[in-house]
Amino acid sequence: MHTDLNIESIRNDFPILNEEVNGKSLVYFDNAATTQKPRAVLDAISGYYEHSNANIHRGIHHLAEKATASFEASRRRIQEFLNAREHEEIIFTYGTTDGINLVAQAYGRAFLKEGDEIIISTMEHHSNIVPWQMLCEEKSCVLKVVPISDAGELLMDEYEKMLSERTKFVSIVHVSNALGTINPVAEIIEKAHKVGAKVLIDGAQASSHITVDVQALDCDFYAFSLHKLYGPTGMGVLYGKRELLDAMPPYRGGGEMIKEVTFEKTTYNELPYKFEAGTPNIADVVAAKNALDYVAGLGKDAIGTYEHDLLLYGTEAMQSIEGLRIVGTAKEKIGVISFLMEGIHHQDIGVLLDQQGIAIRTGHHCTQPMMRRFGIPGTSRASFAVYNTTEEIDRLVQGLHKVKKMLG
Ligand code: PMP
Repeated sequence: MHTDLNIESIRNDFPILNEEVNGKSLVYFDNAATTQKPRAVLDAISGYYEHSNANIHRGIHHLAEKATASFEASRRRIQEFLNAREHEEIIFTYGTTDGINLVAQAYGRAFLKEGDEIIISTMEHHSNIVPWQMLCEEKSCVLKVVPISDAGELLMDEYEKMLSERTKFVSIVHVSNALGTINPVAEIIEKAHKVGAKVLIDGAQASSHITVDVQALDCDFYAFSLHKLYGPTGMGVLYGKRELLDAMPPYRGGGEMIKEVTFEKTTYNELPYKFEAGTPNIADVVAAKNALDYVAGLGKDAIGTYEHDLLLYGTEAMQSIEGLRIVGTAKEKIGVISFLMEGIHHQDIGVLLDQQGIAIRTGHHCTQPMMRRFGIPGTSRASFAVYNTTEEIDRLVQGLHKVKKMLG
C-alpha cells in the first residue's frame, strides 16, 4: 500500500507498540477507545513535572510563570488547530463528556425552557444522550432523535422534518465511534441555524482523522478529547462562540473562575477562566500541544488518506471471512470496522483475539440505543490509527479464522 508516511519510523515513536501480549507482539486496534501516545507526548508530561511544575495563573515566581506560559501556549495551539477566532473561545475540560455536560448545564439551564426541542440522533454516544436527558427532565424540554438507515447513515429528510421554530438545540456526533460514519455536519448546522437553533458537534472521533475548522463549519460548540488524538487522558476541549460563552453562566464554582468573592456576592472571571474552576490538569494540557504538533508534523491529510486505505484493505479482507457481517457501511467512513460473526458472541471474539495479542473492543460501545436499533447486543470493533499496518490487519483476519475454527 503506497503512502508518503514512514510507518516504520512512526511506529518507533510509540514505545508501547513494542509490548508483548500473551507471548505475541501487540496489535493495537482499539484506537477509537483511546490512541497510544508518541514519545513526544510522554516526554512532555515528564518534562513538565521535572522542570516546570507549579500552579498556574496565581503565582509570580519563575516556575509559576513558566507553567502558565506553557498552559496558555497550548490553548493558542488548540485555537489554531480548530481555527477558532479567539483563544478565549477554547475552554479546557476533562474530555468530550465534560464539554457536553458543560453546555447542557450552563447553556441549557439558562436558555432552554419547557416545551423547547433538542435534537440528537440514534447513533449518539451515551455522553451525547444522557446530559440532554438530564436537562429535559429538569426543564421539561423534549428530546427528538433523528433515525438512521441500515447502513448507519443519518436520515437527513427525517432531520429536516423534525426542525421547527420549537427546535432550540441540535447536538450531533461528527463521526460515529461504533460505525465510523462521518456525518454531514456542515449541512446539519446550516439547517439548524435556519430555524434559529444552536448546534453542538461531538468531535470525539473526528478530531484525529478530519481537519476541523469551526469557523467554516459555523458550529456554536465543538467538543473533543485529546486522548483519542495521540494526547493524554483526562483532558479535552470545548470550543464555543464567544457571544454564547459570554452569555452563559458558569458551570462550576470555585477558585480561578471568579473576579471577586464576598459572602454577599461573587463576580465571575472573564473567558475562558469563567469555565475553568479549580486547578486544571496542567501537565496534560501542556502535553496536548505536543500531540497536535506531532499530528501536524505527519500531516492530517496524509494520516486520513493512509487510514482510509487501511479501512478499504481491512473491509475487503474481513468480508472474505464467511459468516462475518460488517455493521456500519456508510459511504463516508473513518477507519472503524464493527462486525458480527455468525453464531459467535462478540465477547468470545475479543477474548480469543487477546490471547493472540490482538486488542479490539467488544460490546455496545456506549451506544446502547443504536445497538437496539440494529437489534443486536453489541459488536466487535477494530479501529485504526496511523501506526497500524496491513500486516496487522492480516494477523487480525488470521485470528478471526482461528476464532471461527474454535467456536463457529
Ligand atoms: N463521543 C464519542 C463519539 C466518543 O467516541 C466518545 C469516547 N468513546 C465520547 C463521546 C466520550 O469521550 P470521553 O470519554 O473522552 O469523554
